[in-house]
Amino acid sequence: MKKLVGLIGYPVSHSMSPEMHNAAFQKSGLPFYYDKYEVHPDRLEEAVYNMRTEGFAGWNVTIPHKQTIMPYLDEISDEAKKIGAVNTVVNENGKLIGYNTDGAGFVKGLMRHVHFPIEQAKVLIIGAGGASRAIGYALAQTAPKSIVIANRTMEKARDIQKECLREHDKVISLQEAAAVLSDFQIVINTTSIGMKNDGSTPIDLLHLAPGTVLSDIIYNPYKTAFLQEGEKRGTIIDNGVSMLVLQGALSFEKWTGMQPDIELMETIVIEKLGGNYVNR
Ligand code: NAP
Repeated sequence: MKKLVGLIGYPVSHSMSPEMHNAAFQKSGLPFYYDKYEVHPDRLEEAVYNMRTEGFAGWNVTIPHKQTIMPYLDEISDEAKKIGAVNTVVNENGKLIGYNTDGAGFVKGLMRHVHFPIEQAKVLIIGAGGASRAIGYALAQTAPKSIVIANRTMEKARDIQKECLREHDKVISLQEAAAVLSDFQIVINTTSIGMKNDGSTPIDLLHLAPGTVLSDIIYNPYKTAFLQEGEKRGTIIDNGVSMLVLQGALSFEKWTGMQPDIELMETIVIEKLGGNYVNR
């Protein structure tokens, strides 16, 4: 009998998760099947009820349900509580447990490019939305020297600093971030600037130092203006494919207890995106 998993969101049609997961289930010889389900916000409670009664092994959650699903679950992991969002549900013998693998997935991908002790690294996170919160929380667990968040709306950055980071971590404006860019060994764009592929970057990159690890969590376009500019300036670039794949791989592990073939998952996503470099 097939075990059902999937993705709920609104919309979900763009998602590459079914192809990525089903190939990995098949490769591991696991009887799982992943599908996507468009769930209108008004029908979220009903969808959770149905998935529970139909015996889903678990599922992924995307926008706009990552926060609103929490009251319908039986338990929330500490990490998901701190981040304030759930992207993975596991059905443990009828008990629905909410996790967040976004931040940990991002960090795993980032670390493939970090060839210096993380304790010595000063990290700049640009943006203070949902993704930034998950990434900030997970990065703080790796204990870098400092984390600085820059955002257009500084209040949102201050909330993340208070709730997910450490006392000595800081908040600055986008303009200040641009001026002190060369201080950072790791710079991460978590804003949506770059998705339009119009050449815009979230901050001016004039002061970017060569050798900086420059990460953009956007994966479409495959290489944003931010990464293109970084490449010209001799940085080590990391696009959003690694976060997409590795958060999925962590969900896979939670549902099956096994590690998926990550290279296979990445290859599928890169092919679908028409990627022109391998991000690992
Ligand atoms: P979000 O919660 O809506 O946050 C958006 C962020 O972008 C905020 O910091 C916002 O600043 C900033 N922003 C948007 N337009 C701006 C502008 N014109 N000027 C300055 N700042 C602007 O979104 P999210 O869920 O965190 O997602 C952010 C991006 O990450 C999206 O592109 C999404 O596709 C991508 N993402 C990728 C993955 C992956 O697996 N690779 C996972 C999650 C998200 P304000 O706070 O000032 O509005």
